[in-house]
Amino acid sequence: MTQPIFMIGARGAGKTTVGSALAQALGFKFVDTDSYLLQTSKLSVAEIVEREGWEGFRRRETQALESTSAPQTVVATGGGIVLAAENRAFMRRTGTVIYLRSPAATLAQRLEESPLEDQRPTLTGKPITEEMLQVLNERENLYQEAAHIVIDGTQDPASIVDAILDALAAPVA
Ligand code: ADP
Ligand code: MG
Repeated sequence: MTQPIFMIGARGAGKTTVGSALAQALGFKFVDTDSYLLQTSKLSVAEIVEREGWEGFRRRETQALESTSAPQTVVATGGGIVLAAENRAFMRRTGTVIYLRSPAATLAQRLEESPLEDQRPTLTGKPITEEMLQVLNERENLYQEAAHIVIDGTQDPASIVDAILDALAAPVA
């Protein structure tokens, strides 16, 4: 198996944490569309949103997805990558898509514990748990639709990597 692996899920789902550990386990490269976007644009998410709106950010995100995608690579995506049908189709067509699924309360707790790692404007201006509930409400179907494999993201990262390796080894249902 050499095609790229795409990690999807909301902010705090563990796409970066688990994705890099998975890459190491597989001997794949690891890339993060968020980091790629920030490095290539030399702007923060907040600055991009201020200048170009969320629409501009989403456009850059699609470019980042297509630029980072490569064989033998684990690609950690941004939480909103599934909002564009084009991105969902691209990931499903060119690779294996893994959805790290956790409840809103778990995501909110993680984000509150690591606010510095997650400096981006709030999407709704609401308290974090409420925002995560709303985000999952809006996106759960899209994550499910895009995913080839859905994994319980509430386990510890090493167990999640094991579960993914098992799922990748299993015959496609
Ligand atoms: P994402 O890239 O999906 O936004 P991160 O990998 O950056 O998520 O993780 C967000 C925060 O949650 C980090 O502080 C990370 O250490 C923590 N975290 C990630 N995965 C887990 C996990 N499976 N169990 C506990 N904490 C986790
Ligand atoms: Mg990340």
